Amino acid sequence: MRCVLVGGGPIGLIAAASLRADGHTVRLFDPQTEKPTMSLALAESTLRLLERLGIDRLPGETLTSVHVSEKGVPGSMLLDAPELGYTRFGQIVPSEALEAQLSEQVSDVIEASAVESIVPRSRSLPPCVTLATGEVIETDLVILADGGRSHLTEQLGFIPQTRPFARTALLGRIRLSQPVPGRAYERFVGTGPLALLPLGDCLYGFVWSLDPARAMQLVDDLDALRALLERTVDPILGAVSIAKDPVAIELVERWIDQPYRPGVLLLGNGAQTIHPVAGQGLNLALRGLGQVLDALPHDDPDTAIAQAMARWRTDRDRTRFASSVLESIFDRPNPLRRFATATAMSVLDQSRSVKRQIAEAGMGLLS
Ligand SMILES: Cc1cc2nc3c(=O)[nH]c(=O)nc-3n(C[C@H](O)[C@H](O)[C@H](O)COP(=O)(O)OP(=O)(O)OC[C@H]3O[C@@H](n4cnc5c(N)ncnc54)[C@H](O)[C@@H]3O)c2cc1C
Repeated sequence: MRCVLVGGGPIGLIAAASLRADGHTVRLFDPQTEKPTMSLALAESTLRLLERLGIDRLPGETLTSVHVSEKGVPGSMLLDAPELGYTRFGQIVPSEALEAQLSEQVSDVIEASAVESIVPRSRSLPPCVTLATGEVIETDLVILADGGRSHLTEQLGFIPQTRPFARTALLGRIRLSQPVPGRAYERFVGTGPLALLPLGDCLYGFVWSLDPARAMQLVDDLDALRALLERTVDPILGAVSIAKDPVAIELVERWIDQPYRPGVLLLGNGAQTIHPVAGQGLNLALRGLGQVLDALPHDDPDTAIAQAMARWRTDRDRTRFASSVLESIFDRPNPLRRFATATAMSVLDQSRSVKRQIAEAGMGLLS
């Protein structure tokens, strides 16, 4: 089958490599725009998919435990992979390294052009894309993985549903003087979560959900950011220094309920962006891609995609819901709420089966 991928972010690149590995003919278009670098928590299901593509030596750190706590109140929960019967929960990977390895693998099919328009399949004509250069390409399947960064979604008539969180994420990298190897931290601070993701060698990616005005102040004042991070992280982690200047990203939940048209499939951030609190955006999208890849050989593309998306929808809605509930529960500085959630965490910490379920959801094993 002839496939055109629009967008060379992680989703477009992984989709291109996977389709090619399955014997399809692939062309990928991306004008190579600047993007912020991230620290991605790759779930077990994502790592397995990447291993099948021959990507098994990514830098970063194996994730073996996750500590969840609320600043200023006692009570916390530790998810420990060996205790729950796993060797690891996943791996934290710098997004730039993941994209570099994937780009190298499919470099022969990447073309540095933007796609200007897409026409879905009609009764008599196959789907086609028009490049910014004017070239028109007929194909069998278009995968739109533009990150929601272009006009193409609206042009195709998709109407996204949106819900602003009134929060901005600060993303950056820090060094900690006393790291705990393999351990990620989810620390709730009243205005939203601060996630620390270990990248190895004392380096951590951080994602901090903050009031937008406060986030912008901190982007411009790195001394204040460093001092505030040091007061906020678990004190056992020692001193904090800034390793990579932060960027601010407005947090919005946005999704398209049925992300396909005849011959066209939306994947990745263009189809849904969810709150990053549980680090699930990429993992979720790839579970959808996995369903499509499994179905394509057995069916015509339109039926395969409709059936695959119907199967994946429960996973999407559950992951979206869980991510926003986590944000809304913890995003209140109210002392009663803080006491209640800290107590709940201490209670849940005693239950191996609950912790196993939480961990398996994070690893992409429950869907
Ligand atoms: C703060 C934060 C932290 C996150 N942490 C995690 C995590 O730990 N784990 C996880 O699983 N997920 C995480 N996510 C989600 C994850 O980052 C996204 O799911 C992922 O980056 C989406 O990639 P994408 O390929 O869909 O889009 P993008 O990376 O945005 O790529 C889109 C590409 O499309 C190209 N493009 C745009 N318009 C056109 C056009 N007209 N023609 C051709 N190309 C075009 C752009 O140049 C770009 O390269 C996080 C997200 C945020 C915001």
